[in-house]
Amino acid sequence: APFGGNIEAYAKHHRAKVMDAPVVLRVRDLKKSFQGLQAVGGVSFDLHQGEVISIIGPNGSGKSTTINLISGFLSPDSGLIDINEQSVAGLSAADVSERGLARTFQNGRVFGGLTVRENVELGTHKRLDAQRPFKQLQQYPILQWLPLLAETGLALIPGPRAKREARDAAIRVDREIDRFKERLGNRKDDFTYTLSYANRRRTEIARAHISEPTLLLLDEPTAGMNQSETAEVLEQLQYLKVQGHTILLVEHKMDLVSALSDRVLAMDGGTIIAQGTPEEVRNAPQVVEAYLGKRR
Ligand code: ADP
Ligand code: MG
Repeated sequence: APFGGNIEAYAKHHRAKVMDAPVVLRVRDLKKSFQGLQAVGGVSFDLHQGEVISIIGPNGSGKSTTINLISGFLSPDSGLIDINEQSVAGLSAADVSERGLARTFQNGRVFGGLTVRENVELGTHKRLDAQRPFKQLQQYPILQWLPLLAETGLALIPGPRAKREARDAAIRVDREIDRFKERLGNRKDDFTYTLSYANRRRTEIARAHISEPTLLLLDEPTAGMNQSETAEVLEQLQYLKVQGHTILLVEHKMDLVSALSDRVLAMDGGTIIAQGTPEEVRNAPQVVEAYLGKRR
């Protein structure tokens, strides 16, 4: 184990290392209103390669909107979003996914009529072939699978690439699911509609991870999970961090936030009200007031 299992020393080392790494995601003065209500009111931050940033904040503070703007599910009113120094602001979700972003959703989005294996396999397609879509999706009427794919943000382009890129997929998919062997490994061929909520979320994380994203966005990956399920997801996310993944995470559970994050951004009313290390943010008076205080 690095640093002889000294978690604090490792966290400090990791933080220092990633702050020197190149910026993968640059967000500047991002704004979005819905019918005159400002959901995001000028958010700015940099996410470095290999860094894990968590966004915390009360319900309605603009966390999901921020993630939806970055991943192309919403178009900003103004502001900059650069991935590896290329602007992605206003691009479609499929186009942003092509630039290497993968994400999961607050409510979990997997295809219930596909098995765990098939769902994870979808993540191995860099592009899905619109003429010859992933064969398992053909069971859905065409008017159903197009919006379903759009919902996950998986890219769709015409062309023959999907098949070639999926060649080694089966082995990689097996390996990926086996990482969740305790709960998911023996359910590879089960339809995901038969799975527990926690297992559907795990399937979704596996699908995002197997795409080898340059940037991974996770919206409340442990929402609605019990303690042991949360611990298992924490283990998975720690594995992703050690592997060097760049992760932006929305999360409520402070233990998990503290264990994983290099930095924390606290949002309230659409703006960042505090940022710093997990300890700094946890103890910031404005955070205690706006967020932690309300939960007591
Ligand atoms: P969080 O994820 O922090 O709970 P959201 O980003 O989901 O917060 O929401 C921020 C604010 O924007 C809330 O007041 C919410 O009701 C509003 N909002 C979010 N999405 C929409 C939408 N599509 N249409 C209208 N209002 C929205
Ligand atoms: Mg949310």
